[in-house]
Amino acid sequence: MSGFKKANILFFLVLVILLLSAIYYGFSAWFLIIPAVIYFILLFFGSKNICSQFYIKTKCKSEDKSKVHLTFDDGPHPEITPEILAILKKHNQKTIFFCTGQNIEKYPETAEKITTEGHIIGNHSYSHSYYFDFFRTKKVIEELEKTNKLIKEVTGKDCTIFRPPYGVTNPNIAKAVKKTNMQVWGWNIRSLDTVKNKKQVLKRLKKAKPGDIILFHDTKVNTPEILDNFLRLNKK
Ligand SMILES: [Zn+2]
Repeated sequence: MSGFKKANILFFLVLVILLLSAIYYGFSAWFLIIPAVIYFILLFFGSKNICSQFYIKTKCKSEDKSKVHLTFDDGPHPEITPEILAILKKHNQKTIFFCTGQNIEKYPETAEKITTEGHIIGNHSYSHSYYFDFFRTKKVIEELEKTNKLIKEVTGKDCTIFRPPYGVTNPNIAKAVKKTNMQVWGWNIRSLDTVKNKKQVLKRLKKAKPGDIILFHDTKVNTPEILDNFLRLNKK
């Protein structure tokens, strides 16, 4: 049972008990607002933190402890992804690229290069819409299926892994994932390559241990250099 379902049952029971007590003892029911606020805070943080496992079972660490697992989101990008592929080849690393369907459509040759160089392509939604978390289940399923079809055209294989845009999960996304039979991949180390400078990112990555899953973006101009430095330091 998901944390979300458990929370629903627990808060329903708490509300019923408090409401009955209020009626029985004749006191005001205003304080019921406290459990309601706690409930909504819980839903909010469960949604924001992909590894909370609150709505969906999510892989945030790998059972393969032989290496640090690198993942790249939001591509393929026509210039940055090939640069990253060259660095990965140099360091003999195989990784996962969570691509958006619309970018695969725009840059099919780059997507093909990812797969021919031995990396895996995962689903990162079709549109990566800013409003993805507000989509209804049907729309999320459409996005997942459309992107899976595009991935299959490039790789020839069925895609079974999905990383939700912005790492946000909710009941609609959970239902769509269940319906499409996909496994959700999160991360346990966020490189913050979208917001921090190279030095700050490398400092964050120092804590990486085998089995960890690191989130990078193959759409950020600094990421190739950060990656090259990280892989050089990690080898020592
Ligand atoms: Zn993304």
